[in-house]
Amino acid sequence: MQFNNTWYQELTGFYTALQPTPLKNPRLLFHSPALARDLGLDQSWFSEQKTALWSGQALLPGMQPLAQVYSGHQFGVWAGQLGDGRGLLLGEQQLDDGRKMDWHLKGAGLTPYSRMGDGRAVLRSTLREFLASEAMHALGVPTSRALTVVTSDEPVYRETSERGAMLLRVAESHVRFGHFEHFFYAGQPEKVRELADYVIRHHWPQWQEEADRYLLWFSDVVRRTARLIAHWQCVGFAHGVMNTDNMSILGLTLDYGPYGFLDDYQPGFICNHSDYQGRYSFDNQPVVGLWNLNRLAHSLSGLLDTAQLKQALAEYEPELMRSWGEQMRARLGLKTQDRDDNDILTGLLALMTKEGSDYTLTFRKLSETEQQQLKSPLRDEFIDREAFDSWYNIYRQRLIKEDRSDAERQQEMKQANPAIVLRNYLAQQAIELAEKDDISVLTRLHQALSKPFDDAPEFADLMRRPPDWGKKLEVSCSS
Ligand code: AMP
Ligand code: MG
Repeated sequence: MQFNNTWYQELTGFYTALQPTPLKNPRLLFHSPALARDLGLDQSWFSEQKTALWSGQALLPGMQPLAQVYSGHQFGVWAGQLGDGRGLLLGEQQLDDGRKMDWHLKGAGLTPYSRMGDGRAVLRSTLREFLASEAMHALGVPTSRALTVVTSDEPVYRETSERGAMLLRVAESHVRFGHFEHFFYAGQPEKVRELADYVIRHHWPQWQEEADRYLLWFSDVVRRTARLIAHWQCVGFAHGVMNTDNMSILGLTLDYGPYGFLDDYQPGFICNHSDYQGRYSFDNQPVVGLWNLNRLAHSLSGLLDTAQLKQALAEYEPELMRSWGEQMRARLGLKTQDRDDNDILTGLLALMTKEGSDYTLTFRKLSETEQQQLKSPLRDEFIDREAFDSWYNIYRQRLIKEDRSDAERQQEMKQANPAIVLRNYLAQQAIELAEKDDISVLTRLHQALSKPFDDAPEFADLMRRPPDWGKKLEVSCSS
């Protein structure tokens, strides 16, 4: 296990070095065995003796903890300096394949960037981040990952007193759009360049020597962001706080707060109850992604001229539509392309909106369609059967044109249409028990989410529509 900290070694003025502040009586509650394997950690890393590592009381050789400084636009307004207010970059693990992985400990205590906060994270929000990042990874969405959750007897006050916790999360980088904005607005263009050179050196090394490396790099950031948001729209994920300080330069899903996965298909779904204007509603995410990229572009105006920035930004919409289209075609089971395919998709989404159909289950059930059958397995789910039948008839004719066996198509459709997503009420049930140190439901949910495309009859109870109470659940945004 080899650690270093290139952020520390190669950059100055981008961080404050400091040690984590331990919690009272920390216990390792939970970890991700699959991620541990990917990082080359065997089971012994998760024994009681190792709690000190996961709770910030001990470091591994080569780790040099630090809090990064960044700024950002929050809810459309310049918010000034933010930074790691409660998380520390412990170090960067060097993987055998040459990549590096940031180990970031969230909930590690006060930093110079804590502002009014207490530097802590509560168990509830820590588990929500753990479950969501692992679920998103299994769905194939680029994301930070979560390795361990530590609970404690440290009281942390939100609306009530809760347990303090720590999350060890890993990502290839924690660099945010807001890092570049920070130095641009501070009037330090040389630091913007230094940071751009750093990320290109570490994450786009193939372009280091190119004369137009900044344009190549920024164009790729644009395309990655477009693909990320296309992914979110396809799996029905609403991030909730798409401020520029939560936007990853690598196009990863980062900083899970009051996120939500769609239950009913409601395009205007707002998961963040403090988002009164619906700025970050589900169907606004594509537009906000571009708005955020425009803020980043502005910060890069010392590196690229206006024409170049515009050229790169122009790639956003086509890339998002291409990626979204490709994934939604897979959801419909269409391999070939036809002029009217878009009408089929929008027709279904319009029906689903009208009926408040369950987003995940509708597509999963669509995977069972047989092209010779005049009746769809989905029909009984719709109140307006006539409207459904007329859509279905067109869809079935289209499937016949595909010239593929039902079995082959159904199997592929199931790989595009998950049977399970992290519904709020499922997370809530797991968290309520985990707060009492019972991780049985949490463990089972984590297992089910790690294979979302399997039929898994043993998890059938987790794959149903939510009960009415589960749909109305309001999750606290304070994390
Ligand atoms: P978020 O919206 O959770 O990504 O956080 C926005 C900013 O607030 C970041 O700079 C965080 O580090 C900071 N922050 C959030 N919660 C806390 C806390 N409890 N203590 C200190 N800083 C916090
Ligand atoms: Mg954040």
